[in-house]
Formats: sequence, structure tokens, C-alpha cells
Amino acid sequence: MIKEQLQSVLNELPEGVTLVAVSKTKPNEAIMEAYDVGQRIFGENKVQEMVAKHEALPKDIQWHLIGHLQRNKVKYIAPFVAMIHAVDSLRLLKEINKQADNNNRIIDCLLQFHIADEESKFGLTIEEAHELLTSVDYRDMHNIRIVGLMGMATFTDDIQQIRNEFHTLKNYFDLVKNNHFKDDENFKVLSMGMSGDYQIAIEEGSTMVRVGSKIFGERNY
Ligand SMILES: *Cc1c(COP(=O)(O)O)cnc(C)c1O
Repeated sequence: MIKEQLQSVLNELPEGVTLVAVSKTKPNEAIMEAYDVGQRIFGENKVQEMVAKHEALPKDIQWHLIGHLQRNKVKYIAPFVAMIHAVDSLRLLKEINKQADNNNRIIDCLLQFHIADEESKFGLTIEEAHELLTSVDYRDMHNIRIVGLMGMATFTDDIQQIRNEFHTLKNYFDLVKNNHFKDDENFKVLSMGMSGDYQIAIEEGSTMVRVGSKIFGERNY
């Protein structure tokens, strides 16, 4: 089941779009099914769960932390995390930088933008991102690398609204790229799209989709 579902998602992705297989709440056996057909990038949204899975599973898995991250938990994932998707404050970025330094690493990060019309979703505005990227604090960080942006569309059946929100995020991506990362070839990730909306996200310029239930089945919380 998982193998077929993974393959069918992969078959839909154009070249240049990376799949993060979102394995949150799913057991190690499920992850290994996907691993056995070649998937290496997995996404988790809880620090404790990701640490446990990292310890138990093959070490060539690249773990992406995709959910909201509390500063006091950064230290647990800093030794191994491959990418942190939801950086939404300078304070969090500073802590990531500090813990990455402690581990002699440079950690790839995405700035999370607020694009949904829902209060509950985290993320920066374009003004806040600009402020962060022009701050002295940011300039002095040497153990993080901002490689792109991430966002989540509103949970709605209104396809046009979802498309508009992804379109907005792509515009922010181009703006941030031009203003702050023009000559930085590492800045190229636009993480948008989940099981319900990744096709739209790809049409709007996504380079990284985070797909869970379409591969692993519905989650039981
Ligand atoms: C759970 C989650 C996903 C995957 O959701 P699906 O609808 O199961 O594909 C993607 N991104 C984030 C941030 C998530 O928390």
C-alpha cells in the first residue's frame, strides 16, 4: 500500500520538485516501507517523535522538522536535523544558530510565511522577514543557512483561494530572493503543498511538497 501510494505521488512530481514524506504519528515500519523503495527525506512535526525515530532508523535518512518549533527543544534535534521548515522569529533563528554552533554544523532553515486567512497559523509577514534579514543579529549568524520559504494555505475547499495564497507565497519568494539572496544559489526552496493541495502548489511554483496522508494513510490522533 505505502509503496504504491508513494510511487504514485512521486510519478506526479515534475523534475525539480522534492518530496518530503510526512511520517508524523506513523510507526517505524511504515517509514521503512517507504525507505525500502528509496525515499530518504521524511518530515516530522514533534521533536520527541523525530528524535526517537532518528535513533531507531537508518542514519542516511534526512529528517525535516516541518511543524512549529519551540526554542527550548532546538537542542534535541540540532545534532542531526537536515532542514527546519517553520522558522518564524529571530529569537528562534538565534537559538538554532547557537545549537548548530555547539554541534559544529550549519543547519538549513526555511522562513515560514503567513499566507492563510486563519489566525492560528504561524508565520512571518513580508515586513517582518525583511526586518529579520536586515538585522545585525542575523548578519552575525554563521551556523544557519536560510535556503527558502515555507507556507501553508488555508484549510478550505475553495481551490481558487488556495491557489491565490500559494501565488502570494511565490511572489514573496521572488521578492526575498531578489532583495536578500540574489547571488546565493542555496536559496532555492519553496516548501508548499500537502496531500490535499500539492498539485496546485506545484503549478504555482513549489519546489518542495510535504505529503503525509496520501502516502501513509489517514492519521489517528
Ligand atoms: C501534517 C503536515 C503535512 C502533511 O499533511 P498531509 O495532509 O497529511 O499531507 C504537511 N505540512 C505540515 C506542516 C504538516 O504539519
